[in-house]
Amino acid sequence: MATEKTFSIIKPNAVKDNNIGNILAIFEKNGLRIAAARFTTLSKEKAEGFYIEHKDRPFFGELVEFMTSAPVLLLCLEGESAVTKNREIMGATNPADAAEGTIRKLYAASVGENAVHGSDSAASAERELSYFFEKNEISDRF
Ligand code: GDP
Repeated sequence: MATEKTFSIIKPNAVKDNNIGNILAIFEKNGLRIAAARFTTLSKEKAEGFYIEHKDRPFFGELVEFMTSAPVLLLCLEGESAVTKNREIMGATNPADAAEGTIRKLYAASVGENAVHGSDSAASAERELSYFFEKNEISDRF
């Protein structure tokens, strides 16, 4: 299996609840390395652009408002099958459906405030990483 990179966001509810460290520990325990990290607060424009595929969904306004409501931690995670592994570790979008021990089961407040984002495919990972990070911000020296 190949080493790959994926994109993650620790979302505002998890930052406000002081769960950054707990979530990073879950990534690391599962063999994912932090290859880039930036703590920032998203602008409305940046959040809208990131979630553009959801622009016609009824929750789009709420989603953008939530994602800009407090700081987030933007991450590049690296490891074997990082995209799939991260999706497994995260759990289902709605914490009510998330498996025991997953990040969303542990730290999501609701389907909207669901603690983390994770790319859903290798193509999304590449697009999302380049939306937030310059190439030279991502370490390839592991
Ligand atoms: P993900 O890939 O598991 O994050 O899920 P999606 O791509 O389907 O949705 C993107 C994000 O939109 C989710 O992580 C939620 O934060 C948000 N979202 C999805 N469905 C709902 C909803 O019904 N209500 C609200 N407020 N937000 C939602």
